[in-house]
Amino acid sequence: MSGERILVIEDEARIAQFVERALIYEGYRVNVARDGRTGLITARDNPPDVVILDWMLPGLDGLEVLKRLRTASPRLPIIMLTAKDEIADRVEGLDTGANDYLVKPFAVEELLARIRALLRPIEPASQPETLRFADLTLNTGTHRASRGERAIDLTAKEYELLELFMRNPRNVLTRDVIFDRVWGYDFGGESNIIEVYVRYLRQKTEAEGEPRLIHTVRGVGYVLRED
Ligand code: CA
Repeated sequence: MSGERILVIEDEARIAQFVERALIYEGYRVNVARDGRTGLITARDNPPDVVILDWMLPGLDGLEVLKRLRTASPRLPIIMLTAKDEIADRVEGLDTGANDYLVKPFAVEELLARIRALLRPIEPASQPETLRFADLTLNTGTHRASRGERAIDLTAKEYELLELFMRNPRNVLTRDVIFDRVWGYDFGGESNIIEVYVRYLRQKTEAEGEPRLIHTVRGVGYVLRED
């Protein structure tokens, strides 16, 4: 563990302590702020690698803190914590630039897994491998895909997007995560680019009427799964 810095912005002492202990145990350096304003100051003075941000905070609420953090650091990974009755708002949080969200109560292992996923860049495999999902295969060396026996030619971006799906099967990928991993946040306002490339991939992977594998999760993103 290389001691990445995690900033936890959470007003509930019990949750803040529990998360802080778990993160320290994992080898992260941790800063805790109990309100949004303190959180922003802490982020400025000790730039974090990941922020865990509660939605409901006294004073500046989580959404406002999120907007300001995102403005200051467009690529900073931010995980929002929401209570169950705030779930409807989570889509707004993702639209505003959160990379991920967790619904309270959550298992600490789940939080740690999300942090690891956000800290881990997708590196090209040192050894070419063949990724498989259902009857879809993707070779990371040749960048060739196939659906059953049928070979599929991919452009560079189509390959990157499909590789992201194949490496995260059955996990919902938010639009922000897809942007970040495939295009980078600097892509800016062209917000339908993901839809366009998903459409290309569907046309190619379903060209002979095969069942759909890339599904839309309305308002959130996409998932690679059967059915
Ligand atoms: Ca709270």
